[in-house]
Amino acid sequence: MIDAKHLNYFKTIVGEENIYSDTAHLRAYSYDATREHFKPDAVIFPRDEEDVSEVLKYCNEHQIIIVPRGAGSGFTGGSLPSSGGIVLGFEKHMNKILDIDMQNMVAVVQPGVINMDLQRAVEAVGLFYPPDPASQDYSSLGGNVSENAGGMRAAKYGITKDYVMAMRAVLPSGDVIKAGKKTIKDVAGYNISGILIASEGTLAVTTEITLKLLAKPKLTKTAMGVFDSVERAMEAVYKTMAGGVTPVAMEFLDNLTIKAVEKTFHKGLPVDAGAILITDVDGNLEDDLDFQLALIKKIFKQNGCLEFKIAQTKEQAADIWFARRNASQSLSVYGSKKVNEDITVPRSVLPQLLARFDKIAKKYSVNIPCFGHTGDGNVHTNVMVDGSDAKQVEIAYKAIKEVFEVTIELGGTLSGEHGIGLSKAPYMSMAFTQEEINLFKSIKQAFDPNNILNPHKMGL
Ligand SMILES: Cc1cc2nc3c(=O)[nH]c(=O)nc-3n(C[C@H](O)[C@H](O)[C@H](O)COP(=O)(O)OP(=O)(O)OC[C@H]3O[C@@H](n4cnc5c(N)ncnc54)[C@H](O)[C@@H]3O)c2cc1C
Repeated sequence: MIDAKHLNYFKTIVGEENIYSDTAHLRAYSYDATREHFKPDAVIFPRDEEDVSEVLKYCNEHQIIIVPRGAGSGFTGGSLPSSGGIVLGFEKHMNKILDIDMQNMVAVVQPGVINMDLQRAVEAVGLFYPPDPASQDYSSLGGNVSENAGGMRAAKYGITKDYVMAMRAVLPSGDVIKAGKKTIKDVAGYNISGILIASEGTLAVTTEITLKLLAKPKLTKTAMGVFDSVERAMEAVYKTMAGGVTPVAMEFLDNLTIKAVEKTFHKGLPVDAGAILITDVDGNLEDDLDFQLALIKKIFKQNGCLEFKIAQTKEQAADIWFARRNASQSLSVYGSKKVNEDITVPRSVLPQLLARFDKIAKKYSVNIPCFGHTGDGNVHTNVMVDGSDAKQVEIAYKAIKEVFEVTIELGGTLSGEHGIGLSKAPYMSMAFTQEEINLFKSIKQAFDPNNILNPHKMGL
């Protein structure tokens, strides 16, 4: 708990106008997308890296907890001050694109920059920052790096970690570290950026990120395949990805999700289909895009695709993508409570995974609609129940535990993009051995010996 003496000291660092300690503001900073809430003792907006360093140094000396926060769009509670303390926000001052280096094709940004603002800025000069989480309009790059965010384009372009070239960060001691360079090759020393990526604000506070940029492809085309069964659609996914073409996106909706979107939005979707796959291809030549789509169509057709539709206009493409973009919100037709996970498996086991989820749904008599980024093996798995019925909620968590068990058995991971935070911390021992967890703990101890940075997250 911080008192007036601490607050007064923080005011000497950042100024009174950069501290919130009134009830209304503290409440506003107590939530994230999990909708759990924990009130912080104060919210501080550092103006620069020096402020971050001063605040951390003081907190370390006085055992005050610090929770870094981006936009608070996380799905696992990473930015929640679950043990109180100070929330450190970057949206007020540390939200600038510092440089777009055209010659080396990199951008240097502060952590509070919104993903879409960077995308727009680099696209204006013909460059491209591919990681596109569905929260791209509001999530921050500091949060994206700390969760290793991915998006629809991951199938071809990878995820945030594939674009982080260098970082500056402040350790709990207040010391500033630099990790990585603008160079494409750098094998000197440990890969500290690699440790900080996806560390969920538990090791250091990121103050600057250098991101790799690509040349922007000029053309994109969209297509949709309708499949008789979800297992066959999943076979089409991995066979396409290994079949000589790399689509930008390869997304799927299962039958329950198709029905939910149709019931909610009446778009004329094929409600009897086992699944639909939506894919984008890109490049600079029409012929190249047509070649990619012809190959995808051929592989789809060999794997149970009943209908293959290529969008002829931007409006038709948007119409195809509508179903995918509105999948999540449509699922409320199956119940008021959604226990949703973002498990990920190697693509070749997707057919088994979906078949096993079907068995879990039958065993517990619940609906488990699935959709997601199958191009990278990432399946959004949603156990839907009546939230007002405690027994149903208990069943949902039993089902989700089995979802994790099956995922791990098939060589997958607890999280493809949303991280562990608080929500998945209880499952860490299912996925890691005690020796591996001890190694995580010793890394945490090396960075943060007094355990002031985002304690208890990731089960640490
Ligand atoms: C509708 C919706 C759709 C989503 N879709 C996707 C998706 O497609 N892909 C995906 O990957 N995620 C998705 N997410 C989840 C979320 O948007 C991502 O995890 C995102 O990266 C979080 O960014 P944020 O700025 O909101 O960070 P927050 O939620 O505020 O924080 C996330 C973590 O980052 C840490 N952190 C933040 N800033 C710093 C910093 N400067 N230094 C150190 N640690 C820091 C926090 O402590 C916390 O642990 C979605 C969320 C919503 C609500």
